[in-house]
Amino acid sequence: MTVELSCDVLVIGGGTAGSMAAITAAEAGRDVLLLEKAHVRHSGALAMGMDGVNNAVIPGKARPEDYVAEITRANDGIVNQRTIMQTATRGFEMVQRLERYGVKFEKDSFGDYHVRQVHRSGSYVLPMPEGKDVKKVLYRVMRERRLRERLRIENRVMPVRVLVSEGRAVGAAGFNTRTGEFVTVSAGAVILATGASGRLGLPASGYLYGTYENPTNAGDGYSMAYHAGAELSGIECFQINPLIKDYNGPACAYVGNPFGAYQVNALGERFVDCDYWSGQMMAEVAAEIASARGPIYLKTTHLPEESISALEGILHSTERPSRGTFHSGRGHDYRTHDIEMHISEIGLCGGHSASGVWVDENGCTTVPGLYAAGDLACVPHNYMIGAFVFGDLAGAHAAENFVAGQPLPAEQVAEAAELIFRHSRNPDGPPQPQVEYKLRRFVNDYVAPPKTATKLSLALEAFDRMSAEIAEMGARSPHELMRCVEVSFIRDCAEMAAASSLMRDESRWGLYHSRVDLPERDDTRWFHHLNLRKNAAGEMEFIKRPVAEYLVPVDGIAHRAGSVEFLGVRSVSAASVSASSAAEEVVVESGRVLEVLSLVDSQPTLAVLEPYLVDPDVTVRRAAVSVLTEAVPAGFEFALVRAMADEGVRDAAAAGLRELVEVVPASDALREALERSPARAVALEVLWALKLGTAELYAAGLESADIEVRLAAVRGLVALREDALLAVAAADPARELRVQVAKGITDVGVLVALSGDSDVLVRAAALEAAGRVGWPPALHERAAGLIDDPAWEVRVGVARALDDPQLVAGLLDDPNLDVRKAAVRALERWRTDPGVVLALKRALDDTDADVRAYARMALG
Ligand SMILES: Cc1cc2nc3c(=O)[nH]c(=O)nc-3n(C[C@H](O)[C@H](O)[C@H](O)COP(=O)(O)OP(=O)(O)OC[C@H]3O[C@@H](n4cnc5c(N)ncnc54)[C@H](O)[C@@H]3O)c2cc1C
Repeated sequence: MTVELSCDVLVIGGGTAGSMAAITAAEAGRDVLLLEKAHVRHSGALAMGMDGVNNAVIPGKARPEDYVAEITRANDGIVNQRTIMQTATRGFEMVQRLERYGVKFEKDSFGDYHVRQVHRSGSYVLPMPEGKDVKKVLYRVMRERRLRERLRIENRVMPVRVLVSEGRAVGAAGFNTRTGEFVTVSAGAVILATGASGRLGLPASGYLYGTYENPTNAGDGYSMAYHAGAELSGIECFQINPLIKDYNGPACAYVGNPFGAYQVNALGERFVDCDYWSGQMMAEVAAEIASARGPIYLKTTHLPEESISALEGILHSTERPSRGTFHSGRGHDYRTHDIEMHISEIGLCGGHSASGVWVDENGCTTVPGLYAAGDLACVPHNYMIGAFVFGDLAGAHAAENFVAGQPLPAEQVAEAAELIFRHSRNPDGPPQPQVEYKLRRFVNDYVAPPKTATKLSLALEAFDRMSAEIAEMGARSPHELMRCVEVSFIRDCAEMAAASSLMRDESRWGLYHSRVDLPERDDTRWFHHLNLRKNAAGEMEFIKRPVAEYLVPVDGIAHRAGSVEFLGVRSVSAASVSASSAAEEVVVESGRVLEVLSLVDSQPTLAVLEPYLVDPDVTVRRAAVSVLTEAVPAGFEFALVRAMADEGVRDAAAAGLRELVEVVPASDALREALERSPARAVALEVLWALKLGTAELYAAGLESADIEVRLAAVRGLVALREDALLAVAAADPARELRVQVAKGITDVGVLVALSGDSDVLVRAAALEAAGRVGWPPALHERAAGLIDDPAWEVRVGVARALDDPQLVAGLLDDPNLDVRKAAVRALERWRTDPGVVLALKRALDDTDADVRAYARMALG
């Protein structure tokens, strides 16, 4: 049976970009259909691991031009700056839009975005304290009444081909991965948002789905765009990321570095010379692992307890809950063991590198009516915020320019059906996991860097040969059909990756395109994008496209004008036709927990949920709190505050309130309810976020025996600039609290007193505050007296507090690399002083990579 659907705008993939595209197109009044092969509520890269926005250009913290230049440098010049500029200039607006939806971004005590510096230049990383909830927030927005009427979501439906008629995208064909029903969609415009090609290489663990990427991202969109005739670009520029050894989670230097963690080799030396996360950085990482100085580690053992527990709080929850279990299974702890790192398998991903569908600054592909957004589009280093921005752009453009009601091409519909159902005709054929393993082993053996022409040619032979094996695979359920079709997508991506890598006969982008047989970069011949597409004869053809003129000039990169060149074709195999279907049994569970959970999609009122919130069974109450948090009916904030009085669900209710803090309406009644709440730390946090807290209330919080309450009180007092009350907190017995006071207070007398504290970290924090309060002479004096303090943390503070370049330059000989790094960075403010210039030149030969790099930057 075929299910026939129609819409103005079809969005394929309900992750980051797809969700935003669907919301924008529906808000523009269009009839939108969103198809997701998993379930939108928890699908895609966004569902887990979003510790922060990697590339937020926040006014006052960074400039779009600097960001564009940074990304151009990280990509060896091969970028369309117009697309990157969209992310740079629209990212901030998107952050604010997401905040209105309820997503939380880290703020300092004064309510400003707390952007962190992770790379050596530019501050672009904006932490998301509750990053694990973003998908939930988006799903909630999509189901608001104003959108529900225009935005239809079909979960577990997987398109396999975009349908094209007279050169225009007119719809898609696919199937339901639970029932096996064949589905066709007639659409006025199609937006591909299916994420990265994440199951390309085989991870070191050997597990097919234990990949760096979300495993449902098998490269479907790359393949669909290719078969629709769209151009793809930079497919030879692979994604390779730093990982934890033996565990397929990111190493999380982005998270660890702002806390003071850093990458070292087995000798304890920092070795990464490159400034921005790029293929060059990955080349340095791979070379270090392979050298006599390997393996490499994320160094954490030098960090204080509070930094380690904060890191664990992020990495073992927001990042991946299994991560803590993995470390403890090995008997490892960040306090006692630095984390061994490795590199990931290869993948294709515009968001992390550059390989993707070729798009303009509105997400339009080269096929009219077809758009691409997110990781599968070629907008280098676009990450999450870029996926949101381009989802929005594509949604808006498609809503304006759709052409609905075109007839669907019968031949392509039949081919799509054959691509899916050929496997159910042959249930005893080779099982998909075996064929997929074999295919991806060839990817590791012949396509992953270091690349050579011989290996790449062998890869192409293997992938051609494997077309027949893939067609023979057997499936016994709709789920297995999905897996089989995914293998055909992986094969297409592997073929494109090998063919492009063979075509670009030079080396570029560090490890991403390291041709060891042609190790030099050749800007004369290859200052070009390498694009590929399927031509009318079904062949893969290659085109060199010139790099568009830069909007922002970039130091160290000479833009070269060029012209379009057609480079010829390589032949590929095609599919044949027939149809079949199968159904899968759906297991239905029952019970009161399921009863309340099933209410979530019907937008229940508070009155409907109340009986569950007071149910005698705590698991029902907990489920009710989760539905309350997701459905947010009118009055939800009071219900959550009430639930915080119930010990059985207190944590869940507090987490819900924290999660929703951006959408909680501030009112006196809420303030009063929070003031009475027994969950005081959360109550103070929420009062601070809503700007409802008073100095009196926070002062009372300082009396609490619970350190979390006292910390929340200090945060509130810093926001209100209540120095007199903070001075009281400066005598608190807990070191964490005194550190927070030192980080927020402006009273120099208190800072000087804290710089003599018995605790190393308090002394360090007090000295580090010097720049914030204008380098007062009293702190300089203290720093000069502490120059030989045995604790390196204090000497880092000394470097930042001294107001004399000669004394600071003396610290360049310190045995500790972090002290030398702090000294180099402090010297930047006297960079024109001849004595400082000499000192910085000396630092260019330091053994530490960070010291060398910052000296280089300071010298310009
Ligand atoms: C482990 C990890 C950590 C990251 N951390 C950060 C971070 O901290 N900060 C940051 O800025 N960026 C981060 N990123 C990058 C960021 O998450 C991505 O750039 C962004 O989410 C990509 O969005 P997308 O819409 O392209 O893909 P996704 O959000 O992955 O969505 C793709 C969706 O398409 C669906 N799909 C695939 N094929 C089909 C099909 N045939 N039919 C229907 N549906 C289909 C998938 O199921 C999925 O839901 C991280 C990425 C990863 C993998």
